[in-house]
Amino acid sequence: MKKHKFIFIVGGVMSGVGKGIACASIGKILQSRGFRINPIKIDPYLNVDAGTMNPKEHGEVFVLSSGLECDQDMGNYERFLDVELLSENYMTNGMVFKTVIDRERSLGYNGKCVEPLFHIVEESLSRIQTSVKKSGADITIVEIGGTVGEYQNALFVEAARTMKLRNPNDVIFVLVSYLPIPHMIGEMKTKPTQYAIRTMNSYGVNPDIIIARAERPLDEQRKRKIADFGNIPYQNIISAPDANTIYEVPLNFEKFGLDEIILRLLHQKSKIKSDMLGWRKMVQKASSAKQDVSIAIIGKYFKTGDYVLSDVYISVIESLKHAAYLLDCNPKIEWLDSLDFEEQESSIEMLRAFDGVLVPGGFGSRGIEGKIKAIQYVREQNIPYFGLCYGMQLALIEYARHKLGIEDAHTTEVNRRTKHPVIDILPEQIEKLAAKDYGGSMRLGAYPAILQKGTIAYEAYTRSKNGRWSSNDPQSDSFTVRERHRHRYEVNPEYIEQFKKDGVVFSGTSPDRVLMEIMELSRSEHPFFLGTQFHPEFTGSLLHPHPLFTAFVEACIARQSSSR
Ligand code: GLN
Repeated sequence: MKKHKFIFIVGGVMSGVGKGIACASIGKILQSRGFRINPIKIDPYLNVDAGTMNPKEHGEVFVLSSGLECDQDMGNYERFLDVELLSENYMTNGMVFKTVIDRERSLGYNGKCVEPLFHIVEESLSRIQTSVKKSGADITIVEIGGTVGEYQNALFVEAARTMKLRNPNDVIFVLVSYLPIPHMIGEMKTKPTQYAIRTMNSYGVNPDIIIARAERPLDEQRKRKIADFGNIPYQNIISAPDANTIYEVPLNFEKFGLDEIILRLLHQKSKIKSDMLGWRKMVQKASSAKQDVSIAIIGKYFKTGDYVLSDVYISVIESLKHAAYLLDCNPKIEWLDSLDFEEQESSIEMLRAFDGVLVPGGFGSRGIEGKIKAIQYVREQNIPYFGLCYGMQLALIEYARHKLGIEDAHTTEVNRRTKHPVIDILPEQIEKLAAKDYGGSMRLGAYPAILQKGTIAYEAYTRSKNGRWSSNDPQSDSFTVRERHRHRYEVNPEYIEQFKKDGVVFSGTSPDRVLMEIMELSRSEHPFFLGTQFHPEFTGSLLHPHPLFTAFVEACIARQSSSR
């Protein structure tokens, strides 16, 4: 049997330097050499999944088809590799500990003393092996979250060491480290990276490759220093300066021959000549785009202390970029806090300056009246609007209040006692979801939606040449897509007829037609006003921009040429 190969990627010096992008990029260049890649992310926190974490703490919660709520890096892997990942591609300390403790409680260890340094390590390895089996891949890339030397991820580094010990020719280590250039000195410093290598050594492993992240390229002298001190071949130190877009990173790696270096270390021969043509074309489109398209995202999770946090909506932002690049445009994205629209009466007018407005998913009551006000404005002013999940629910509440004349229309998420719950929890949904044992009433993961012919959504999906969305019989009057969900509330069926009578088109529904998946206004009413109950931002990629994002950005571009 062919031996499976493993690349363990750890971070040095500090977090947030693009370890996830480095993993995805390594995956991409190896994929382009004909290898099937299985990326795994290990997060060191104790949460059993990312679902319960506040976005301000954790950034975006990414949702897999399976419904698993996980780290945003999983989104990067899917967007770079164009693969659909499984729950087995993700683990947290919490998941691993829970399995071991549950097993211990049910006497699964036959009276043995259960210890982290053996049982947790073995459970981590066994999870990695399960993922390898399910993936059918050639190479698994394991990203160990956090920074080397932390107490929290030490057992995973230990697992990696064990794997290397058992399969010396099939496992390599990559250290993604940071080289600061302190302003006062103006010189790039290698010492923190040297310490990171030493820390790795204290676990019994040496990095085979260093990805040297820094503001600027690494020079020969420093490269030599890292190689000598780190006991690593000179050519295996890869300079990784800041890039204009994350999508340039695989191309930079390829330029250094990183694919060849890795394959040599893993005793593999590349299967085909590198095929990064389509990727390179998109990156070129991004860098040569002349026209700007300005889009406002109205959210509430942007501010943390004195900083603005756009990580919370990373999949939305990347999806907008993909669509803009495809259409040869430069996306100019601005983050607006919906609370500002509640506090300052006149500021709503500023939305006129944008080519389009997007309201992403969200939870709870804070800031929603500001969002509703913004939605009313863009609907009345014919500004393209795209609502995702909460963004669709709020669009319907706005429509009910101002077009159907139901003044107190609301969602029961915010007002349990509203007389007009146009958005509500459906009792039969609670039962169905409870049976799936998601531990709550959240609808999570991929579900099918049937699209109605002649609508904006139908046109967008069927027109896209993307394999992921175009598997239907062209003779049929409907078209089925599978999209990912993360919500508890639904459009209340009692109001659907009223909405329809007044011009709302429900262009996508669940196959039994009970749940409303997409709402839109016809083109004669508005240039582009569309909302989805699901999260299309989780299923697009650079090579396959999501059709609804493409349709939205197209409408935004069209607004530039029409008189405002
Ligand atoms: N809060 C809404 C719900 O639970 C929308 C969720 C979301 O936007 N992801 O239904």
